[in-house]
Amino acid sequence: MKKEILRASNMTKIYGLGTKQAFTALNKISLQMNEGDFICVMGPSGSGKSTFINNLSTVDFPTTGTVYINQREVKTMGENEIGHFRYENLGFIFQEFNLLDALTLYENIAIPLTLAKMPRALQKERVHNVAEKLNILDLLNKYPNECSGGQRQRAAIARALVSQPKLIVADEPTGNLDSKNSYELMQLFKQLHQKEGVSILMVSHDPMVASYSNRFIYIKDGQIEQTLEKKDLSQKAYYEKIVEINTLNTHLFEEDYD
Ligand code: ADP
Repeated sequence: MKKEILRASNMTKIYGLGTKQAFTALNKISLQMNEGDFICVMGPSGSGKSTFINNLSTVDFPTTGTVYINQREVKTMGENEIGHFRYENLGFIFQEFNLLDALTLYENIAIPLTLAKMPRALQKERVHNVAEKLNILDLLNKYPNECSGGQRQRAAIARALVSQPKLIVADEPTGNLDSKNSYELMQLFKQLHQKEGVSILMVSHDPMVASYSNRFIYIKDGQIEQTLEKKDLSQKAYYEKIVEINTLNTHLFEEDYD
């Protein structure tokens, strides 16, 4: 049986709690994810996608409800412990890459290992292994502004993978990439997920990107509106269903006004 990597129960997030501007961004959402799952979250702008994955992954904490990652309840951990837990369990990939311009790609990728005080020789081995996998070995001494968008995103992914996390959390990872680099990134995610059993929780607005996942979650007004499992659907058939869900939810028909 597959091991559970993430479980959230009745997660509610209220911004500005106790003020006039209080806003419920997530409304009693629950989610269960096993090791090796690849989930894509989609929904209109402002529907709560980023809030959802941030609250699932220790970036933020729900107002009520519980989150377990790798069998540990997140809110029971202190600040120090959570830093260490994040390092051991989670790898983050953002749309903006978030590389530090003053550091080389090598230094950027090594940040999580440096923070964890890993011996330098071991760091070097880890960085080289992951850079080889991402085809950026010859770029390690370059600075981010000397690299293309696709190369920078690969470096950001290398940094997310270098600590060998159980769960990759990616918010619009292809948002700043052209279609060729997006395709390459998805091939890489596919390989990580299928060959190495890495679990991936991703937000994307692109149905093509979403069609690489094995579960699709459509969020609307802070709630899960629809879930679709890929199961034995072809990628094309899965893609078409995703497009359909998207279209039905983002277009208002005349009847909606009746
Ligand atoms: P999405 O990622 O789907 O675009 P978000 O999760 O960013 O949506 O935001 C969901 C809702 O919560 C939006 O209405 C947004 O304005 C609101 N929101 C997000 N972050 C904050 C915050 N820090 N304070 C107040 N409201 C917020």
